Amino acid sequence: MSKRTPLIAGNWKLHNNHFEAIALVQKLAFTLNDADFDATEIVVLPPFTALRSVQTLVEGDKLRFGYGAQDISAHSSGAYTGEVSGSMLAKLGCTYALVGHSERREHHHEDDSLVNAKVKAAFAADLVPILCLGEGLEVRKAKEHVAHTVAQLDAALADVPEEQAAQVVVAYEPVWAIGTGEVATPDDAQEVAAALRVRLGELYSPETSRAARILYGGSVKSDNIAGIMAKSDVDGALVGGASLKADEFASLARYR
Ligand code: PEP
Repeated sequence: MSKRTPLIAGNWKLHNNHFEAIALVQKLAFTLNDADFDATEIVVLPPFTALRSVQTLVEGDKLRFGYGAQDISAHSSGAYTGEVSGSMLAKLGCTYALVGHSERREHHHEDDSLVNAKVKAAFAADLVPILCLGEGLEVRKAKEHVAHTVAQLDAALADVPEEQAAQVVVAYEPVWAIGTGEVATPDDAQEVAAALRVRLGELYSPETSRAARILYGGSVKSDNIAGIMAKSDVDGALVGGASLKADEFASLARYR
């Protein structure tokens, strides 16, 4: 049995202004109880503009949610209009930053070297990157999904020292399953998660391989999460659409 703490993270994407964010976190806090937070780390990833409100609520009401940002600048400061640095996010109490989400890779042309720089920027600010990896449909059809995703892992962790890599959260998100309603099977998720774990062992050590949490993401809902979480190398879920409704996200977090 794994000793890794399960992690369920809600990626709100471009949804919820800061008022709506407060309402959603309050509803979640009302629905979830201490036993839920004892069993599972529950994290929300609001838009940047809602982070300060979420921080105020979480700290003020001593809520047990973790939270983080959906992106991070590769730069620490300077003439980078529109960017938000790791230290700014850390100052807002963030624990996590998503890095390399497929929507960033697709719509903002983020390549492996930028993802690598963002992973390093997150660690430099004492944030934990939730590193998103995964293949598109063509790669899956060509049965190259394992090699593709492992290569993304290699590139994202290039020159990242072991003491940092041991903290990383990896999210395997097959692009064809994100927001499409088409969920990978538990066996699909396990196949890639296991390969990523083996690769972490090759890149670093058996300890780091055992410690790293690997999430699955792609149309996870309350009615399909249990099968995915039953897989030995899957430690949690990165949830998009289903994280926007309090009842549904709370059910997800209580998948057991
Ligand atoms: C995501 O945004 O990372 C995601 C997996 O979205 P969805 O759950 O909506 O497929």
